[in-house]
Amino acid sequence: MERKNMWEHYTEEQEKELEELAVRYRKCLDQSKTERECVALSIAMAEEHGYKNIEDCIREGITLKAGDKVYAQYMKKTLALFHIGTKPMTEGMNILGAHVDSPRLDVKQNPLYEDTQMAYLDTHYYGGVKKYQWVTIPLAIHGVVVKKDGTVVPVVIGEKEDDPVFVISDLLIHLSQDQLEKKAKIVIEGEGLDLLVGTKPVKNADKDEKEKVRAWVVRYLKEAYDIEEEDFLSAELEIVPSGKSRDCGFDRSMILGYGQDDKVCALTSLFAMLEAENPERTGCCILADKEEIGNMGATGMQSSFFEDMVAEVLALTGEDSPVKVRRVLRNSCMLSSDVSAAYDP
Ligand SMILES: [Zn+2]
Repeated sequence: MERKNMWEHYTEEQEKELEELAVRYRKCLDQSKTERECVALSIAMAEEHGYKNIEDCIREGITLKAGDKVYAQYMKKTLALFHIGTKPMTEGMNILGAHVDSPRLDVKQNPLYEDTQMAYLDTHYYGGVKKYQWVTIPLAIHGVVVKKDGTVVPVVIGEKEDDPVFVISDLLIHLSQDQLEKKAKIVIEGEGLDLLVGTKPVKNADKDEKEKVRAWVVRYLKEAYDIEEEDFLSAELEIVPSGKSRDCGFDRSMILGYGQDDKVCALTSLFAMLEAENPERTGCCILADKEEIGNMGATGMQSSFFEDMVAEVLALTGEDSPVKVRRVLRNSCMLSSDVSAAYDP
């Protein structure tokens, strides 16, 4: 199959439009490194475009009519938007679907340890990561910590110019003879992906106190963030590459940045959804979590969140019957999109 190079076919006008979209996309991508951040940003943008929270509509007993817009989120990590069309919903919806989680490293629940006078956070990889790509690059920590009293502390460390960053270290080249003989799959093993977070011991430690570097980190977390070591148990901290996306190439024809699987589809689906006007068929956009690990869990597509929300939206239009929910689903069309580029997906 011969494939056109689209750059040869764009008009000047189209190229300008593309550039505007790319600038908007990059800005959103930089604010969406995690599924939580992407869903929070998407909700803020949806509200600006007149979308109402479905929970409020249910509470207030509102009846939805053509042109109305609602969104439903679950656990702040998955989102569905609905734009009611002029045709009955039972004739089917036009659905856009993409995922907002990206490959990353998760901080484990009891992560902090010291080894040879260096403090580390133990991690587990999430999704399809090529492990050797994660060493010796600046890394940031994004997420939330839920403290004992229930308060949620948002955490983003490693993105501001004067923030520290973190790293996973790799062997010196001269010591790597054996390592370089290994297959790429095991050259950096999953268990080796631990985040180096400090090398400075606490001062005025007890004479026989061991693990003084670890103690420094514990003390620092308490002082800087009022976080106790046990709070890691109720934290969700994700390690991602630090820094913003950049234009790539002399011609700036590419975007280099973390998390484009699948924000390149999710954010563009969102833009399209927000720009739609007066649809005939009800429009829907699903931004799903947990695709990287098999769509499982309460916020993945294997859960009943989406079907539940379709039932709720249908009920809000005054059509409350289980068989009609099945009809909506049966008559719907869906564009489910994910990255398919052979290189650097
Ligand atoms: Zn994907």
